[in-house]
Amino acid sequence: MDIHYNKGKLLELRRTLHQYPELSGKEYNTAKLIRDYLTPHQPDQMIDQLGGTGLAVIYEGEEAGPTVLFRCDLDALPIQETNTFPYRSKNDGVAHKCGHDGHMSIMAGLSEAISFHRPRRGRVVLLYQPSEENGQGALQVLEDERFRQISPDYVFALHNLPGYPAGSVVLKKGTFAAASKGMINKLYGMTSHAGEPENGRSPALAMSRIIDAFTHLPRQLALEDFALVTVIHARLGEIAFGTTPGYAEVMATLRSYSNSDMEQLTSRAVATVGGHCEKYGLDREISWVEVFPATVNDGDAVDLLRRVATTNKQHVIDMEESFRWSEDFSNFTERYPGALFGLGSGEHTPQLHNPDYDFPEEILDHGIKMFYGVYRHYLK
Ligand SMILES: [Zn+2]
Ligand SMILES: [Zn+2]
Repeated sequence: MDIHYNKGKLLELRRTLHQYPELSGKEYNTAKLIRDYLTPHQPDQMIDQLGGTGLAVIYEGEEAGPTVLFRCDLDALPIQETNTFPYRSKNDGVAHKCGHDGHMSIMAGLSEAISFHRPRRGRVVLLYQPSEENGQGALQVLEDERFRQISPDYVFALHNLPGYPAGSVVLKKGTFAAASKGMINKLYGMTSHAGEPENGRSPALAMSRIIDAFTHLPRQLALEDFALVTVIHARLGEIAFGTTPGYAEVMATLRSYSNSDMEQLTSRAVATVGGHCEKYGLDREISWVEVFPATVNDGDAVDLLRRVATTNKQHVIDMEESFRWSEDFSNFTERYPGALFGLGSGEHTPQLHNPDYDFPEEILDHGIKMFYGVYRHYLK
């Protein structure tokens, strides 16, 4: 397969992106860097500020056909980089530790390759999505009115994966990455003198029973697959030895491989909190943050990825179990057929979100080849 793009320029872009990372929702300069890089590739349309700071770049074919969307992510993390190479992060306390600088560069190379071999039919959309790390960006893009003119038929994305051979293509049908959501429980009672706890309503016992119940919760349900509730934070009253507490907080992360299991887990967790609050005469307030559905891959889309990888002579690894982490690309796979796949970033690299992680540049070409193969299948 002949794929044309300027490797030297692409490496330069990757390192520039790495030097100027931005946090979720604030990817203004990153989007501009990408826009400037892609403009010479003469796309037919660019949609700016999509879902906030996002950017969609569109190439149209001459004949009618499907719309294929490739998605990457713009944001970096609030982590201080510990690497000392010349292109290390210049933004204090912010760094590309999830390799999104690599994902963006792969799509920039893809854009250049497409500009030389434009689609014969249909349309290709390169979506640079904001705010992946906090789980908000995909929904913001999908809810943006201008996304309606995109309305894809197929969606694809990749994530670099430390621990797998560099450039390997990691595939799984069905659930690729777990559903997860953060649950915040606020328990309101009433303070009293510590010498007269009977005159107040302390949330202490309710809090400890809720923590205990959460830990066992998945085992008490008839679930299809793996699920987990992890208590991540709890707080009771104030540090005042003369006072019986009147307030508590319990926060937990719910996780499951299937979206229907998540529904069961959610309603049981809510009922558990409600039951204990009623028993101890407490008011409650429950809220949810960082809600990610499960990323469920379409079988045909995974078959296509396998054919592309095989044609490219790329190393395919079939995953036996889903990943326990979540990805907000799930909001796309919930609505459109498609797949998220892994691109191995080497067996001995640091893990994602480690302070010394750096996207390995030798796998850029592997990512571009995968996407380009999918593009050719649908649109050439
Ligand atoms: Zn990440
Ligand atoms: Zn990531």
